[in-house]
Amino acid sequence: MKLVFATHNKNKLKEVQSMLPADIELLTLDEIGCFEDIPETSPTIEENALQKALYVKEKYGYDVFADDTGLEVEALDNAPGVYSARYAGEEKNNEANISLLLKNMEGKGERQARFKTVFALCIGEQHYSFEGIAQGEITQERRGEGGFGYDAVFLPKGEKLTFAQMTPQEKNNISHRGKALDKLVAFFQKKEL
Ligand code: IMP
Repeated sequence: MKLVFATHNKNKLKEVQSMLPADIELLTLDEIGCFEDIPETSPTIEENALQKALYVKEKYGYDVFADDTGLEVEALDNAPGVYSARYAGEEKNNEANISLLLKNMEGKGERQARFKTVFALCIGEQHYSFEGIAQGEITQERRGEGGFGYDAVFLPKGEKLTFAQMTPQEKNNISHRGKALDKLVAFFQKKEL
């Protein structure tokens, strides 16, 4: 079957492609002629993922899945959450986002946080949702050069290294996105395509 992954992010696309069963032909947004930014204006991660998938389904007619991720910090009432990409402003600057987060966490003893990823899948008239969570805490300062986003200040529960100090494979094995993707892949492996 043909399926669109509603992302303009080539790294995500490659990662997901390599995990899906071979009988799924993954189409990119470019391949279906969708070059615009897909709106993500919903109040929750779940709704944002669905909003993106439905946008492609309704405008282009393809079966599709989309993902959305956010960092939820307990001491900040689960901020930045759905605003993770633009926490420090519309320019979506990772470094500025981390600086603001560390500033807002100054003096906080409770540093628990979680990453949450949701994949929303629209096939025909059906909608499905697959969630992955990585629990951890916000470090006092940046550690590591790898990864992206908030990886340098996220220490996964039970680990000694931040996501930014891990190899991509080590991160994928325990990450929010990895877990949500495992559920999506399991769904397709069980399903008659
Ligand atoms: P998106 O929904 O995958 O585009 O993620 C939204 C924002 O959350 C990104 O711009 C990053 O700031 C942050 N983010 C998402 N996934 C990760 C991750 O795996 N590590 C660190 N930050 C992430």
